[in-house]
Order: sequence, then structure tokens, then C-alpha cells
Amino acid sequence: MTACRHERDVRDAAADERWTPELSAHVASCRRCADVALVTRALAAPVAGPQPIADPHRLWILARNRRRQRAEALISRVVMGVQIAVSVLGLAGLGFAMMSMESWSPSALQGGSSTLLAAATSLVLLTVVGLSRLLSKDA
Ligand SMILES: [Zn+2]
Repeated sequence: MTACRHERDVRDAAADERWTPELSAHVASCRRCADVALVTRALAAPVAGPQPIADPHRLWILARNRRRQRAEALISRVVMGVQIAVSVLGLAGLGFAMMSMESWSPSALQGGSSTLLAAATSLVLLTVVGLSRLLSKDA
């Protein structure tokens, strides 16, 4: 196949998509120029396929949100641990107070010790709820 004198004009026309009627007629009749036009169009076309992996700004926002979530989870665990420790200490204090009472009988529950019993029950519930939340987060 020999070079065609219109090859350069065909390449420029194909790259810019500006065809003259004479050049279009020549490409229809010259196989070499038809190939040049085809290859030039293919190389000039935008590359189809996946876009860039991710926007850096979006990646930065996702990383920031993930750091915040980790910090919140850590703080939540610390608060829950303190809550459980306070509940256990409160229960121990209440138990000690009840054991040190001189008259421990059902009639004593009607007085001030019923308040102690209610506080002990609420502390037990608080401890159970805190432990269940701690265990459910670990799972
Ligand atoms: Zn030609």
C-alpha cells in the first residue's frame, strides 16, 4: 500500500471532524485514507470505561466520619464502663447499709429501708441494662 497525498488532510479532518465534500468523497474511494480516518477517530474519542476510583474530597469526608465513629464508640464504652462501675459500687454500698441495719424484718421494709430496696432494684436494673448493651456492642 503506497502513501496517499491526502493522508495528512484526512488525519486533520478526522481529528477535528471538519470534512470538506471533496475529502469525504476521496475517503469513500481510498482505502488507505479510510483506515487513517478510522484510526484517527478512534484515538481521538474519549476513553470509555470506569471513571476515576473516587473523588479525593469524598474520600477525606468518609475517613473523617469513620474517625468520628471510632471516637464515639470508644467514648461510649468508657461511659458504659463508668456506669457499670458506679452501679456495682452503689449496690455494694446499699448491701452494706442493709446488712448493718439492726432490725432487718419485713416490717422494716415499710420505713426507710423500702427506699433502700427501691434504690437497690434500680441499680440492679441499671447494671443489667449496661452489661447487656456492652455485650451487644461486642457481638
Ligand atoms: Zn487517499
